[in-house]
Amino acid sequence: MTRPEQSVVDGSKASPKDLPSVDALLRSPLGVELVGEHGHTLVAAQARALLDAQRALALAGKLPAEQARIDTLGHTLSARIQRHLAPRMRRVLNLTGTVIHTNLGRALLADEALQHLLAMMGGPNNLEYDLSSGGRGDRDAIVEELLCAITGAEAATVVNNNAAAVVLSIAALARGREVIVSRGELVEIGGAFRMPEVMESAGAKLVEVGTTNRTHGRDYEAAIGPQTALLMKVHTSNYAIQGFSSAVDEADLAPIARAHGLPLVSDLGSGSLVDLAHYGLPREPLPQDKLAAGCDVVTFSGDKLLGGPQAGLIVGSRACIERIRKTPLKRALRMSKLPLAALEATLRLYLRPERLSQDLPTLRLLTRPVEAIRESAARLQPPVQAALTPRFIVTPCELMGQIGSGSLPVERLASAGLAITAAQRKGAGSALETLSTMLRALPIAVIGRIADNRLLLDLRCLENEAELVAQLPQLKAMLS
Ligand SMILES: *Cc1c(COP(=O)(O)O)cnc(C)c1O
Repeated sequence: MTRPEQSVVDGSKASPKDLPSVDALLRSPLGVELVGEHGHTLVAAQARALLDAQRALALAGKLPAEQARIDTLGHTLSARIQRHLAPRMRRVLNLTGTVIHTNLGRALLADEALQHLLAMMGGPNNLEYDLSSGGRGDRDAIVEELLCAITGAEAATVVNNNAAAVVLSIAALARGREVIVSRGELVEIGGAFRMPEVMESAGAKLVEVGTTNRTHGRDYEAAIGPQTALLMKVHTSNYAIQGFSSAVDEADLAPIARAHGLPLVSDLGSGSLVDLAHYGLPREPLPQDKLAAGCDVVTFSGDKLLGGPQAGLIVGSRACIERIRKTPLKRALRMSKLPLAALEATLRLYLRPERLSQDLPTLRLLTRPVEAIRESAARLQPPVQAALTPRFIVTPCELMGQIGSGSLPVERLASAGLAITAAQRKGAGSALETLSTMLRALPIAVIGRIADNRLLLDLRCLENEAELVAQLPQLKAMLS
């Protein structure tokens, strides 16, 4: 630890004049080597910044004499350059128990999606080129047929994310007019995505109907007027209203919309493309069901339960999708070729439903049997305990995880993992905080959660135990 030093006169401290010039540092053996490897621009800028920082320390009498030596400065400079060049986006191990974790990048891409992404990005591709006619094509064509085959929709288009899909659909179908939404569905998705504000930014006027807990078909009917442009349903993905509540589902709303010649739009949020009940998981509504129930447009995310890249998928009637496609905003919200390649490959996995729970990582993790997770905990307890001895006690335990990303917020997934407690009660809280910080500092950061004075590592999403085990010696070294 550095301590404020009493005086610059102290012989063990360097004074500013002990520091070399930038030029001298660059001409030192290590300086020459670094310039040879990285070029003059980066190394000179980092050398200048390093010497400025050391000069300030020296002025305050806080720079150990050793740190002012030119060879030490060379090593400090080298480390500083490594840090500057290191990737900011890094791999982590998601041991939080939340499978689709928004802060940790949501769905993991399937191998097929990664391979396709790499293969397509290495050179030119037919992103907007029709290979049969040799003329201009539309990037939507890459996924439209697949989306229609999977959901039964007449037409489909894709944008950057589901928030964009919602804004675009409203802008295309209701700009300058009214959109009717139930008060029980005026959700905030997180960040700045709140339905009333989304409506405003899309240039439509929100007309609220019903109450927080109960909305009826007659409420929608009474609100329909000459300015009404569409009826909208929003899946209340991240909360549930329980008790005395009722909502009008799409099947009951569709005839009302049709009778008035209005489109019905449903924002599903997660929108799983397969019935999760088949896998023993709680059911999420499917876009195909909403279309069959009479929705004209259904929007959902690409990187939630679908298990693909960030994307906003819009499926529905040909007439509505055409209007959405022709809206100028579509160009601003269009999807890049990178996620588009990954999305296409992910959607192709759905053509072989029997293989999906193996091929799609999100589904594979969600359906991982709890016995397999318990076995993993039993295998990992001894090496983790060995690394954390004597300061912590590691015990296999039963845990409750969740799907995440707003899906099925009240449902919990039975899981298992390791519970870590401090060996000494005194200062246990800060000991656990320190341990979490160290876990996050590992090359592949390990992210758990602290609850009830325990650091919990949920092992559902740890498919490759070796990635944790290989880092244990480093963890042990940090602790000692
Ligand atoms: C997640 C969600 C969104 C936003 O989707 P992104 O793909 O994150 O932009 C919109 N509506 C609902 C109901 C959601 O659950």
